[in-house]
Amino acid sequence: MSAQAKELVRAHLAHAGGEQEMTLEQREFYRERIKEKLQARDAVMVAHYYTDPEIQALAEETGGCVADSLEMARFGKEHPASTLIVAGVRFMGETAKILSPEKRVFMPTLEATCSLDIGCPEDEFAAFCEQHPDRTVVVYANTSAAVKARADWVVTSSIAVELIEYLDQRGEKILWAPDQHLGAYVRDKTGADVLCWDGACIVHEEFKARGVEDLKAAHPGAAVLVHPESPASVVAIADVVGSTSQLIKAATEMPNDTFIVATDKGIFYKMQQLAPEKTFIEAPTAGSGATCRSCAHCPWMAMNGLENTLAVLQDENGCGQEIFVDPDLARRAMVPLDRMLDFGKSLKR
Ligand code: SF4
Repeated sequence: MSAQAKELVRAHLAHAGGEQEMTLEQREFYRERIKEKLQARDAVMVAHYYTDPEIQALAEETGGCVADSLEMARFGKEHPASTLIVAGVRFMGETAKILSPEKRVFMPTLEATCSLDIGCPEDEFAAFCEQHPDRTVVVYANTSAAVKARADWVVTSSIAVELIEYLDQRGEKILWAPDQHLGAYVRDKTGADVLCWDGACIVHEEFKARGVEDLKAAHPGAAVLVHPESPASVVAIADVVGSTSQLIKAATEMPNDTFIVATDKGIFYKMQQLAPEKTFIEAPTAGSGATCRSCAHCPWMAMNGLENTLAVLQDENGCGQEIFVDPDLARRAMVPLDRMLDFGKSLKR
């Protein structure tokens, strides 16, 4: 974890402390004001599965969406509202702005970033690409607009295996960035020639195979659901490996009544909503001696709160939390993003 990432985590923890102390009445007050302001400003909330349950519930109740990053991008582009409130992390806000340049896009805080994005600076990435000019550049959605603009394809975890399979069948060699675990997973699944950047997600990288195995022994009927940003040792013991949407689908469709889930615990909101009779257990991120057995919650996703969402809606200029993307950069990033959306659509047909 970089020094910058650590600093942002500390900033988040200081911030989160205040909001957690809110009373139920105060929370209700914020929720009602946010609903009014969304209407008044012709705005809609687009929230990720990893945000806090309260934020996801608010997005649902107000006609917005709770989704993975691919679906968030689609929803924001297609929704008629003139303003998007993107509750997620910065690359999601940037993607929304690139796809909907005519809309105003705000985030509860622009400080909400992602270790994968931070760990893949534009200049270093460009140099890496230049060293491998024979490779097709595929970047994960968790990257800056500048890195996307350098890519041939953008991809999310929900269609990563299918896209790499498709490119492999065309005889293309792949340069993959930034998540090394997801890159290794798609390489193993497809047999394609995939050269990986060495980024990682600070949340998923912490899951421990030994801890998952211990939990499995204690719950023999449980199925293990794993996001492919997790280390290979954890992926190897999964019953299902998939994106957030795919894991939610598995949780609702599989016959098991208990699931051990190795991804951000924000996803439990949707899993419990869709399968209330089932039990979901957080996969451990630390050994038995640790004080925190599972800390599987993205510190940046957790920065999306009621207070900063309302503050942004109350101020005409969104308290400075508006997303702007340089038009030339947006135009270049749009090319691989459009390819991703079209490819995703072709899979649904
Ligand atoms: S959970 Fe990981 S990949 Fe997702 S936003 Fe947080 S740091 Fe990035």
